[in-house]
Amino acid sequence: MANRKLIAGNWKMNGELSALAELDAIGAAVDDYPEVDIAVAPPFTLIAAAALRSPDLIIGGQDCHANVAGAHTGCVSATMLKESGARFAIVGHSERRADHHESDADVRAKANAAIAGGLTAIVCVGESEDQRDAGDAVAVVEAQVEGSVPADVDPAMLVVAYEPIWAVGTGRTPSVAEVGEMHAAIRARLVATFGEAGQGVRILYGGSVKPSNAATLLHIPDVDGALVGGASLKAADFVPIIAAA
Ligand code: PGA
Repeated sequence: MANRKLIAGNWKMNGELSALAELDAIGAAVDDYPEVDIAVAPPFTLIAAAALRSPDLIIGGQDCHANVAGAHTGCVSATMLKESGARFAIVGHSERRADHHESDADVRAKANAAIAGGLTAIVCVGESEDQRDAGDAVAVVEAQVEGSVPADVDPAMLVVAYEPIWAVGTGRTPSVAEVGEMHAAIRARLVATFGEAGQGVRILYGGSVKPSNAATLLHIPDVDGALVGGASLKAADFVPIIAAA
């Protein structure tokens, strides 16, 4: 049976209070597309307001710390996110892996912390352009899944997002065959880890998803939804992507 689709927006470091108005229009789509889970990860500063304003949307964080509390200036724990109204945390986004030198082990620790804190963990993986050109994309991503996805958690609390780094924010996307090959490889690893329950772990595609390519990408086997950056900032772009699911 196909998994329920999840369309998740990642606002990155975008969005001031005025941006919450976009959530009203995105939230209106919840009723129009009851067969799709619709999620938005605004900046930390907007989570509490977003969760209060848009109870129908699944609001989440873009990161969380591996610890519950302590001397970690500038960081936010899963417990704090949960208390603010978040229901998920994105961990291991390629921008965090690059900008904050997060390793697979760091990402796995964050995913564990998110789940222990009662959040769904959206674990991001994806190869660089050089790795794809060298023919190593599948092996690189398999190793990232192995290293970043916790094995001893409830798989119902896990989502994996395949985001080729070269496709994030570039307007370029892999071919249908490349996405299909990668999602099948990730699925095989999840089933090896979780058994039959691995079939139910949703695998999102992310990287330059927009209204014009969403239907194609979202109907590739084992693509259970999308993680959307730039095109999630405006309801006029994001809602058509939800509709395409
Ligand atoms: P993009 O970003 O949709 O702007 O390419 C996707 C992401 O980084 O999650």
